[in-house]
Amino acid sequence: MEHIGLNQLREMFLSFYQDKEHYRRGSFSLVPEKDKSLLLINSGMAPLKPYFAGLETPPAPRMTTCQKCIRTGDIDNVGHTSRHGTFFEMLGSFSFGEYFKKESIEWGWEFMTEKLGLPPEKLWVTIYEDDDEAFELWKDMIGIPPERIVRLGKEDNFWEIGTGPCGPCSEIYYDRGEAFGCDKPDCRPGCDCDRFVEFWNHVFTQFNKENDGSYTPLAKKNIDTGMGLERLACIMQDVDSIFAVDTIRYILDGVVEMAGIPYQAGQAPTDISLRIITDHIRSVVFMIADGILPSNEGRGYVQRRLLRRAARHGRLLGIEKGFLTKLAQRVIETSGEAYPELKNKQDYIKQILSIEETKFSDTIDQGNGLLNDAIRRMKAENKTVLSGEEAFRLYDTYGFPIELTDEILREEGFTADEARFRELMQIQRETARAARKTETDDGWAENQPLLDGQPETEFLGYSDLTSDSRIIQIFKAEGAVDRVGEGETATLLMDRTPFYAEGGGQTADRGRLTGPAGQADVLAVSKTHGVFSHKIKVGQGELRIGDNLIAEVDRSLRHSTARNHTATHLLHKALKEVLGEHVSQAGSAVGPDSLRFDFSHFEAVSKKDLKKIAGRVNEAIIAFLEVTVTETDIDSAKKAGAVAQFDEKYSDQVRVVAIGDYSRELCGGTHVQNSGQIGSFKILSESGVAAGVRRIEAITGQRVLEELNKREETVRQAAEIVKANPDQLLTRLSAMNDEIKTQRRELDEMRNQSLADDAAGLLRDAKTINGIPLITKVYDGLDANELRLAADKIRELATSGVLVLASRHPDKVNFLVAVTDDLLEKGYHAGKIVKQVAAAAGGGGGGKADLAQAGGKDPTKIDEAFTAASEAISSLA
Ligand SMILES: [Zn+2]
Ligand SMILES: [Zn+2]
Repeated sequence: MEHIGLNQLREMFLSFYQDKEHYRRGSFSLVPEKDKSLLLINSGMAPLKPYFAGLETPPAPRMTTCQKCIRTGDIDNVGHTSRHGTFFEMLGSFSFGEYFKKESIEWGWEFMTEKLGLPPEKLWVTIYEDDDEAFELWKDMIGIPPERIVRLGKEDNFWEIGTGPCGPCSEIYYDRGEAFGCDKPDCRPGCDCDRFVEFWNHVFTQFNKENDGSYTPLAKKNIDTGMGLERLACIMQDVDSIFAVDTIRYILDGVVEMAGIPYQAGQAPTDISLRIITDHIRSVVFMIADGILPSNEGRGYVQRRLLRRAARHGRLLGIEKGFLTKLAQRVIETSGEAYPELKNKQDYIKQILSIEETKFSDTIDQGNGLLNDAIRRMKAENKTVLSGEEAFRLYDTYGFPIELTDEILREEGFTADEARFRELMQIQRETARAARKTETDDGWAENQPLLDGQPETEFLGYSDLTSDSRIIQIFKAEGAVDRVGEGETATLLMDRTPFYAEGGGQTADRGRLTGPAGQADVLAVSKTHGVFSHKIKVGQGELRIGDNLIAEVDRSLRHSTARNHTATHLLHKALKEVLGEHVSQAGSAVGPDSLRFDFSHFEAVSKKDLKKIAGRVNEAIIAFLEVTVTETDIDSAKKAGAVAQFDEKYSDQVRVVAIGDYSRELCGGTHVQNSGQIGSFKILSESGVAAGVRRIEAITGQRVLEELNKREETVRQAAEIVKANPDQLLTRLSAMNDEIKTQRRELDEMRNQSLADDAAGLLRDAKTINGIPLITKVYDGLDANELRLAADKIRELATSGVLVLASRHPDKVNFLVAVTDDLLEKGYHAGKIVKQVAAAAGGGGGGKADLAQAGGKDPTKIDEAFTAASEAISSLA
């Protein structure tokens, strides 16, 4: 069999299916775009689920991809075995209701035997026990001997998750030979030994599982095949470790080089570290390229965990810090051809890696020291469990993910009190939340616990802005009450409401409640477990439990907010188009006045790009794109293998908000019906809020007009001041600027000249004391520099003498004393003289022998100061 490199195998597969009229598409992002129940894309099929579920039309009925995937379920095994990795690539061929079993099997066989040259006698297949159709195809059409077609049960060869589309599958195995076998007589695919390697799964989705457990045939049957590229490479390169595959070995060799430690492909601790670093750097580089930034939650946390684990194993190998950034280059080199985003973003990838690596390397040694102390102490005290407090401190202060602490402890046979750790995490989270609440809420947060057990509120606000509602609870700061009177505030629960509660970055609606006995303003609305609480202030009369009300949302505010929210979606899309796919939403705040959007991006956005982004958004606005909202059930997404992880929680129903074909996002907010209603969009500012996170603030609709009017008015007023028409303002200003420069130059020249004239006159008028010329002069309002300039002019002309200058200000006087060089030898000292001079005017100071400045408080005492100068000179004579 021919040795084929991994990159070449990928290309062979994709072009093979392209020849079979499959639409060849690049890998989808690791970040699921439409499926919020999934943290990271973990199979070739995952990003195609909307097509299989019939929610969206695929770009073509046949497709082929090589999908980058990350799975962290087996992360603890990574490094300890030669097969586990968090990052892998999956080759796939797909049919959306077009061809079926026959073609899938036929082409699969053709690719394996004719393209790859795998010997037919080495290939075995398994099928679902009841799938006679597949059996016939393998036996009669392909000609595989029946004894090499193994029938297996539901758990092995039937794909289904809950109810919905499902079907049998057929897996293809490669026989590595008896040498790898267990010698049992029934050794065959499905056996626990290493002889048979499963490498390609063909799923035949042909049934729909109903709620009663029965199966009905699907009208449109689908094909979904998946083959691990690394595993195929192992077969084609005749190796039994993914770390021996050409491209991965190249990365591992990089680590070996930096560590100066050979790789022995075994179980030595250094081998384990080498494999961990090799695998993790692949995941991390691909994640950064897809816009994932290290953080404390969700996929950002997964990334941080991988990165810090790799950094720690680098320490164990004695590699200097900064090595992951260098190693990233090898990943980019080996995979950059197939995944151009790695090449395009290589600087960005390295910058992010470097920031995170530096951040952790600053604390890793301290953390390690702390942990080693704890381990020593535990040994001495015969304990095996690290306290939750210590694990938490390692996390909170030294940045050790709990999984990393756990791994280090396990190496010693110890564990951490994870339950206590989680408890402390929870407390910290709640404290932070409470701190946020008390900042903004006046007692209304205290009522939140009272909401437990309350019936869910019916929310009408997606379609209605008014409703007939009934009051079912009233809370005041002291607890539940049955009425609230004029001028009072309270929290109110109603059976149904048109008010949108704050959430998803969108502010709550405001509005008015009108009851039989009074009226109140709705100031804020929040939602807890489906219960809407309305913070109200009674304007007139009173509201009572059981009152039937008319609830009205303030339409103008709602529509302004909707304009800003829909514009946020357009902005998100435009940012991705202009800056790149790495842009992902980091946060948003949408209210009636403006919108704010935070996103991941490494550097400031240029003026040119900002203009382009705003241009895209405005194009989408004037294109009058219809905004459509569809509700789907998250279960249908989840049952295809999706699992929610970490703290992310999802309700059963998800809303998909689409703006024409331009943008599509999961969102629970309120939107305009057509992008045209946004009117216009203007970016006010772009700034940085954290490492790798930028913020754009913008306005829409009427606000843009107001802003432009305001600016126009400023321009008009400015023009008026300079007596020009607004459209001549720039010419006028630059002419004025030139004029000012010329005038300033002329003025400087004049002053120079007058200082020089002055100097000559002063020298002529100088008094002589004991044969030493004393030159004095009073100026009005010169600052220290100007005074100095005047002194210089005089000194240019004076060959010998003492110079005392005063500058008079309304509430003070500045003095300057200068002494010519010939007098310095005779003991005249400007610093000493200025001290006496200033003292005469109620001040003080001093300085060097040739030049000194000082201040006095009393400008009326200048004459006295000059007299003091004369005395100082005569006393020295
Ligand atoms: Zn066996
Ligand atoms: Zn939204």
